Amino acid sequence: MKKHNVFLLSLGCSKNTVDSERLMAQAEASGIMFTEEADLADTIIINTCGFIEDAKEESIAEILAAVEKKTQGIVSGVYVMGCLSELYRTEMREELPEVDGFFGTRELPALLQAIDAQYREELYDHRTLLTPPHLSYLKIAEGCNRSCSFCSIPKIRGRYRSQPMEQLLREAAILQKKGVQELNLIAQDTSLYGRDIYGTSMLRELLVRLSDMDFRWIRLLYAYPLDFPLEVITTMSERKNICNYLDLPLQHCNDRILRSMNRGITKTETIHLIETIRAKNPDIRLRTTMLVGFPGETREEFNELMQFIEEVRFDRLGCFPYCHEEHAPSFALEDTASAEEKAERRAEVMELQETIAEKNNRAFEGKELTVLIDQIEGDIAIARTEYDAPEVDNECYLTTGSFKLSQGQFCTAQIEESSAYELHGTITALAEKT
Ligand code: SF4
Repeated sequence: MKKHNVFLLSLGCSKNTVDSERLMAQAEASGIMFTEEADLADTIIINTCGFIEDAKEESIAEILAAVEKKTQGIVSGVYVMGCLSELYRTEMREELPEVDGFFGTRELPALLQAIDAQYREELYDHRTLLTPPHLSYLKIAEGCNRSCSFCSIPKIRGRYRSQPMEQLLREAAILQKKGVQELNLIAQDTSLYGRDIYGTSMLRELLVRLSDMDFRWIRLLYAYPLDFPLEVITTMSERKNICNYLDLPLQHCNDRILRSMNRGITKTETIHLIETIRAKNPDIRLRTTMLVGFPGETREEFNELMQFIEEVRFDRLGCFPYCHEEHAPSFALEDTASAEEKAERRAEVMELQETIAEKNNRAFEGKELTVLIDQIEGDIAIARTEYDAPEVDNECYLTTGSFKLSQGQFCTAQIEESSAYELHGTITALAEKT
């Protein structure tokens, strides 16, 4: 049987990326080839995102484009997987009969069968990377037990399921053999790792076991503020290859809003957590995410958030306008803020954060930092420090001088200039392993 030539489009977050990479490794083991050009493929697979309206629209637009290629006879098969399919497969099946199959977020074997491939349990640890070869994500758990009222992910991804430690260590070892040096730990909620299958938090234990392997950087993302295992922060400061970095989405600070969001934490508890983290590890850089325009958010409550951001001074901050999602509990509330108001509030937050980021980054001027090169453009190396996660945080633009450098190399760099989201300087040496 002629093996398919597949174009896989992976949309959405890093958790979707890991699912796509697992699919590719399984399919390739059955002799399926992947192409980076849809027009060269006979089959298109789209791994969709269904989190917020914009992401849904993007997924649908890509599905329609694929269906158009099928109608034109360019491809013979179109398959849809992932979060949007998990939420709307019935409706989409009716509206898009040209699509050969819709699969949810936990139907890899069925999808593989549909493209004449076979699911092999023994290959579960293997992934074909979609990220640059020197960095990767390690998805330590799936699903979510929280019930943030603005969020539909628990409905899409199901209950929280930690990946067994031994499986994660096997997967990490394979990634390392592939040349991965930066490992980014992800889940919907990394704070709860281990509690479901080991009866207690195993996040610190996992970090220590990964740190004992030879990764240069291990980074912790998507930590939920409630039940966050603080012992992790001590381990972070003790282990050189665990980045002094924590992504801690908070969404808001006003107690009425936090209750209405069903976050389970108060402003006082949040401030105490941040102060404790910074006291335990003064070198740590904190990233957070805020949500503005939540139903009922008054100007006063928004001003309180602005003041909170001004006082806490996060090193990295992203901000999203509230999206009235029909599969989220908050859909029952009145969506009080207009799209313009939400956009204005988001702009105000990011304007404030820019002034904070500018001041924070000025502190790096004149310093020598270890950086990881993500790409080389002419005589400029584009790199990141341990305080910068891939795709979302700051970048360093560094002249390479006489050094012959390549992607994935660790170097030291002298920082000469800075702006809110960039550092500029010169590579001074190759960074020896510590
Ligand atoms: S922690 Fe909250 S926001 Fe994050 S996935 Fe779970 S329910 Fe959604």
